[in-house]
Amino acid sequence: MMPLDNLQELSEERLCSRCRGRLFASVGHGLSNMERGRHVEYALEAFGYTVARVPEKECPICRGIFCELQAYSNEIVRRLDMYQYKSFLIGTTVSRDILNMEKSMQIKYGGMGESLKKEINREIGKLLGSASGKEFDKSDPDIMVKIDTTYMNIDLQIKSIYIYGVYRKLRRDIPQTRWIKYSQIKDTVESVIGEEAMSMADGTNYFLHGAGREDVDVRMLGNGREFIIEVANPKVRSIDLENLKERINSKNKGVEVDNLSFATKDDVVRIKDERYVKKYRAILESVNGDPIDTEHLQKAIEQLNGKVIYQRTPLRVSASRSDLIRHREIKGIYLDDEDLPSIIVEAEAGTYIKELVSGDDGRTTPNLSDLVGQKIRIRELDVIEIER
Ligand SMILES: [Zn+2]
Repeated sequence: MMPLDNLQELSEERLCSRCRGRLFASVGHGLSNMERGRHVEYALEAFGYTVARVPEKECPICRGIFCELQAYSNEIVRRLDMYQYKSFLIGTTVSRDILNMEKSMQIKYGGMGESLKKEINREIGKLLGSASGKEFDKSDPDIMVKIDTTYMNIDLQIKSIYIYGVYRKLRRDIPQTRWIKYSQIKDTVESVIGEEAMSMADGTNYFLHGAGREDVDVRMLGNGREFIIEVANPKVRSIDLENLKERINSKNKGVEVDNLSFATKDDVVRIKDERYVKKYRAILESVNGDPIDTEHLQKAIEQLNGKVIYQRTPLRVSASRSDLIRHREIKGIYLDDEDLPSIIVEAEAGTYIKELVSGDDGRTTPNLSDLVGQKIRIRELDVIEIER
């Protein structure tokens, strides 16, 4: 018998057998709480106590929820039918006063119990597992089923799918993501990729996570930029990535993707932290329209080669970024074509190339304009390689 001195009180608790059994869930293995409760009640009666056993529907703790589990499970199975998934997890919410009542009762009888929520999760999990044939997964389920017993409400949280790839952007007029700022612009890298992915996965929304970004007017060429496209609430999880690639590339929207593979939420964090060296090609022009002195330009880039420059946050982005002074290494810079004239710059991640050329009113030092002795700006800029 229980090592308790309040057996009289335990007998008088108006509880169903299951809830009386759950108070001692950690005692004796291989029994359900219902069986455990019956054992406890027989023992109490054998000791001469009168047990205040109530039917489950009148029990103040479970309030008959276990009689409803099959109905919950049927409803969940029905609602999950439209989704493709491999694993699920159940999370139950129980009202605060039931939780408090349960907690104080468990303390009173030795703290040997388990929570009502845990038993509901386990029992619905069993029903759902056998009805659906899917796995119970605590760490990273495809579908999280949230049950609110107070309002008899079932909420499904569908894990997004994540697809890794690299993109090339061949246009100078589309932003990477769907910012409000560009709401008049129809295409974005995000929408060109995301619309197709969302359509194939039958999802409700999409988000592009890029390993950095280029300006709207900058093309992204060469080996492309890493990204992960996330599709929210997908009904289909096993989409054909080769087909997705073809669909995106054949739209001819100036966005090409390659190397698609399935990824995880952790990969989003990883690619957002990448700090690759990038190689740019910039076509230059003087602000006043005069030709750029090639000799001076050649000398200026020799002076910048291998140097660390200081860049205060550019005026054009200062509204959205904190005002800091960064130092960035210009790993390589050389003349590409005297006639255009254009330069190749290889620089640390986060270098503002436009400001390296213009000087941004002295906020970037040293800079090409000062070194050449002419106000120079970039006419066209491309990222031509990301060194990874
Ligand atoms: Zn009960």
